[in-house]
Amino acid sequence: MKTISKIITTALLVAFTGSALADVTIKAGPRKGRLLEVDKEKAEFFVEKDRTISIAFYDAEMKAQPAAAQVVSATAEAPNGKTKLEFEKKGDLLVSKAPLPAGEHYTVVVQVKSGADAKPKNFRIKLDLSTCAGCSNPEYACTCDE
Ligand SMILES: [Zn+2]
Repeated sequence: MKTISKIITTALLVAFTGSALADVTIKAGPRKGRLLEVDKEKAEFFVEKDRTISIAFYDAEMKAQPAAAQVVSATAEAPNGKTKLEFEKKGDLLVSKAPLPAGEHYTVVVQVKSGADAKPKNFRIKLDLSTCAGCSNPEYACTCDE
């Protein structure tokens, strides 16, 4: 009986893992950033060379849209403490007013609202800045099927 329940547990685990993975299919945008689905539009999370975060917006057909009423904030959950980042408009983008804290492999929680009164959507992004050999995107926007 023990063996059977073990087999069932394993099968269930495999089924759950499979569906969990399907939910986190990562899409990348034209800037090789991570695409975040926000209502009918898409926001592209990208870490600049100076470690600021820039967010670009696209409509449902992936046509670039200048940042308008969207509100973005981010929390970097760095090992030495959480840092909240505010964003301001720079050209068509929203850019964080401060760079990400030093290091990587910590989680960045990005909150996007399509307007001041819209329901916020949170995205948890594991900050890995190395480039993926498979898709040549930064690892946080890796689209490889692994
Ligand atoms: Zn990849």
